[in-house]
Amino acid sequence: MLTSYKLERPDLNWGEDGAPHSSQFDDVYFDKESGLEETRYVFLQHNKLLERWKALQKNVFVIAETGFGTGLNFLCAWQAFLDSEASDDKQLHFISVEKYPLTKDMLTAALNMWPSLAAYSKELIEAYPTVCHGLHRIELAQGRIQLTLWFGEAEEGFAALNANIDAWFLDGFAPSKNPEMWTEKLFQHIHRLSHQGTTFSTFTAAGIVRRGLQAVGFDVQKVKGFGQKREMAVGQLNQLTTSFPERMSQGQAWFNLRQKISVPIKKVLVVGSGLAGANTAYALAAQGVSVTVWEQGKTIACEASGNPQGMLYPKFTAQDSEVNRFYLAAYLYATRLFSKLDQKQVFWDQCGLIQIPKNEKEALRFQKLLDEQLYPEAVLQASTDKNGSILLPLSGWVAPKKLCETLLSHPNISVQLNTLLSSLESIDPEITSESDESKNHWKATTGLQEHFFSHVVLCTANQTDNLNITTKTPTIPVRGQVSYLDVETARKNCLSQDEPAEKIDIEKVLCEFGYVSPPIDGQIHFGSTYNFEDDDQEVRESDHQKNLTILRGLLDLSDGVFESKDCSGRVSFRCTVVDHSPIVGPAQSDQIYQTAYSALTKNAKWKTNTIEEPISQLYINIGHGSRGLISTPLSGQYIASLITNTPSPLEQEISYSLHPSRFIIRNLKRSQGI
Ligand code: SAM
Repeated sequence: MLTSYKLERPDLNWGEDGAPHSSQFDDVYFDKESGLEETRYVFLQHNKLLERWKALQKNVFVIAETGFGTGLNFLCAWQAFLDSEASDDKQLHFISVEKYPLTKDMLTAALNMWPSLAAYSKELIEAYPTVCHGLHRIELAQGRIQLTLWFGEAEEGFAALNANIDAWFLDGFAPSKNPEMWTEKLFQHIHRLSHQGTTFSTFTAAGIVRRGLQAVGFDVQKVKGFGQKREMAVGQLNQLTTSFPERMSQGQAWFNLRQKISVPIKKVLVVGSGLAGANTAYALAAQGVSVTVWEQGKTIACEASGNPQGMLYPKFTAQDSEVNRFYLAAYLYATRLFSKLDQKQVFWDQCGLIQIPKNEKEALRFQKLLDEQLYPEAVLQASTDKNGSILLPLSGWVAPKKLCETLLSHPNISVQLNTLLSSLESIDPEITSESDESKNHWKATTGLQEHFFSHVVLCTANQTDNLNITTKTPTIPVRGQVSYLDVETARKNCLSQDEPAEKIDIEKVLCEFGYVSPPIDGQIHFGSTYNFEDDDQEVRESDHQKNLTILRGLLDLSDGVFESKDCSGRVSFRCTVVDHSPIVGPAQSDQIYQTAYSALTKNAKWKTNTIEEPISQLYINIGHGSRGLISTPLSGQYIASLITNTPSPLEQEISYSLHPSRFIIRNLKRSQGI
């Protein structure tokens, strides 16, 4: 486990020519005179990219690189791909790892050297993620270029990947200067992530690199190096017997995420138009997939995602864990996505959030978080407004329904309201009939009508088990009531109690026992209650009173200020999960698992790469509880990557911790059944 998500800065000095030089490694990132030509020669030409892109059959071509550095190789690949003869519906997915990420300023200075790449550099710099350990997914060029960046040690990053790579750019400083990059383990991961026909090229012809790649099965050749350089190495993987999902298994075949044989995406149904549904549909649509969304209600986001205002309130812990990594990655992704989609504060205001400790124990936890510096300052820091509190500068408030409207307005999405999914049945895709539709894999029924889809994603929160699919989802509905107060009334209330009315003019979201956000649309929104085993759908005065107590505490107002009769509000039911992580991934059969993986009942450490149940193109994305604003954008992106069979935006261990089959696997390990 990690001790910090902070990363060391690269120690750069800038030569007289203005090019960055690494003091850590005593090596250059690129040659100022010929950097562009060298990249094109070594990496593009020797992986035969232009020929391969011209003949590209599949939708996405995947490149992986060791050492992102200034992003020059990436930008050259991006430019070459858009200028290539690959058809407009094809995407380039570029994965890179970087242990010492450049800051935005360093990146800007380094990329200023390449005026011919200026338009691409500008877009990259704008989208460049906060420097923080983990996987970061960035969409560029309206989705045609996808960038997945691992910030951290290369070996750890490749071990966490779930991706099928077509070409490798091996570019981490010279092996003589950086032997830690070129390890046996790294070569094993390169092999695990490659398929038959995957190529590599590298500027170095060092024996350690050639032998390392040969040892994992690549045919390796030395060829003429660029310019004055004598030699470089290229190669191809020619023998491989295991399938992509099995190579990804790493001994835990039961958490398989991938289809053995790629299933054509014909029609995708997303059920539910709340945050999970809207984000899943959007992520698919942004990758060019046509999506149908069924919503049983009269409007979109009519349940827990329908509140007028919510906040991004991650609960970061002082220890590294899969859950914490998930929320950290998801939080950074959500804030980037919202800022990209909304520059006019229609649904998102990145105003910051202050977390005030609820008690002594929490105060100590906050102090520990700050002292141990697990997080970069850009993510978490001491609040200068409220002593003992922490500030999350990237956070803010969201209007969830407006966010869902924005996501669902993508032209590739068609929303059907008042459409209740009553049953879902898997049919044999091989059955041929007059109608091409029936060759799809799922028959979804609404009323008396039947429709056919190749892929279905259930974003149906607490109602998922009603559909009798083959896995049980241990979710628990939790009632929540939010309250609203008219701003003018609130001001008058303050003044009538001799309290300064400015106290309600907060600029940041405040959280303690509940939350209050800066006012929008003339209302202050605050809450929220949290009740198990309570299905009362009506707004309750007693709950307004509870929320008012929270509000007074947050605004430091006396007991008499505000009355519940002035409040309005809304009730909804969060979908929470027994182990506090959402349920996101392929829906597999509990019954099949019970038999296929019964060896786990005798030996909880048993491992296998043999996959017993292939993915059936049914996916679940539910259980986001009170944190859906944070977790649904990345979860949607993740589901889209599984359907389109493209690199996952999640570390593999994180996807296991969200997997719908984790409950049955845990039960088997404890020698229990379904
Ligand atoms: N491809 C880069 C570009 O286009 O600008 C240049 C890469 S530079 C030659 C090598 C990069 O590898 C540096 O940015 C360095 O920080 C990174 N690196 C070195 N050792 C690493 C490791 N063990 N894990 C991850 N990255 C590493």
